[in-house]
Amino acid sequence: MNDILRKQFLRHVAQTSPAPQLIEVARAEGVFFYTPEGKPYYDLVSGVSVNNVGHGNRAVVEAVQRQAADYMHIMVYGEMVERPQVEFARLLAESLPEPLDSVYFLNSGAEAVEGALKLAKRYTARTEMISMRRAYHGSTHGAMSMMGQPEGEEWKCAFRPLLPDTKAIRFNNIEDLSLITERTACVLCEPVQGEAGVIPPADGYLQALRQRCTEVGALLIFDEIQTGMGRTGEMFAMQKYGVTPDIVCLAKALGGGMPLGAFISSQKIMSTLTHNPVLGHITTFGGHPVCCAAGLAAMRFLQDNKVVEDVERKGALYEELLKDHPAVKEIRRSGMLLAVELGESEKLYKIMDLFIEEGIMSDWFLYCDTAFRISAPLVITDEEIRDSVRIIRNCLDRL
Ligand code: PLP
Repeated sequence: MNDILRKQFLRHVAQTSPAPQLIEVARAEGVFFYTPEGKPYYDLVSGVSVNNVGHGNRAVVEAVQRQAADYMHIMVYGEMVERPQVEFARLLAESLPEPLDSVYFLNSGAEAVEGALKLAKRYTARTEMISMRRAYHGSTHGAMSMMGQPEGEEWKCAFRPLLPDTKAIRFNNIEDLSLITERTACVLCEPVQGEAGVIPPADGYLQALRQRCTEVGALLIFDEIQTGMGRTGEMFAMQKYGVTPDIVCLAKALGGGMPLGAFISSQKIMSTLTHNPVLGHITTFGGHPVCCAAGLAAMRFLQDNKVVEDVERKGALYEELLKDHPAVKEIRRSGMLLAVELGESEKLYKIMDLFIEEGIMSDWFLYCDTAFRISAPLVITDEEIRDSVRIIRNCLDRL
């Protein structure tokens, strides 16, 4: 580790916590990243479900290089006809269930959520916005307002006042659906809760939620920022669970490693953003041509190599190889998004240190510090799964 660089990082790069991981990265390839000394780390986080196609993916790197050489930023979003953006929007529209065919590109997950909330208010002319308890949707004011209570309170309290007329209901709780009414503009929901520690939907829950929203005329927004682009074993979790929202938010893996977000709806709903007022939602960099070229290459890579078709089997292999370890209390999983439950935070903190020592990058969850995360690049091989499990099990033995 370069000590001077580390000191400069701590001094000049704004810090988000008092305890950053402080691992210097020299390069990354496939499911590994390497320190300048050449120490490999299995990347089992994928930058929080970003690097689904693996690090240094040739198709993505070449698309970035080509597009950067052709042109980068020309004009604010929505004015110019830029081929990577148009082709990516078309591919997304073709891959999503009808009527989700109109794509608004932004730069990040939180921005996608902001756009979706504004669209729902604009379309319904209502103000109440409902989220799920233990939800995480981003750190901007609007997205933070939708952070589910009570777990989000610690963060929200420090930044109030946030958006008015928001409330959180219990995920997977049918009774709470009656709190969605004719006053409700939208319900924002992750089809599989991520930062709550991987909570898949109960049988029939998303269907009941869809039905209630339709009954009262509220828009259903799925936050597929973490679950999208193959993570749960279908290109989009809505396909896995068979429920189509009115708006879907994407980011993270959408850009193939480059910053890109989007909210997607039907043309009918989306068109309300173009008038009264015009320019009601605008962005300079949203849908940057290099990011769209990267995202397009990444999605084509997933499709051409049938990567998503193998995700469920690979996730199940991780589960199978870990579930009988005595330190593992439970595994919660959707595709290759796993929470390995240890039952105690002390054990989790200890295993995080052991992981760093042994070359495993994992993480805990914002609202769950008793389980560690496995969301490896979807291109991980069976051999790499078995080898990373061997290291994980050695660390579990030392708890
Ligand atoms: N929604 C979900 C489900 C997320 O997991 C995240 C980030 O972790 C976000 C939204 C926010 O995305 P971003 O960090 O790109 O703003």
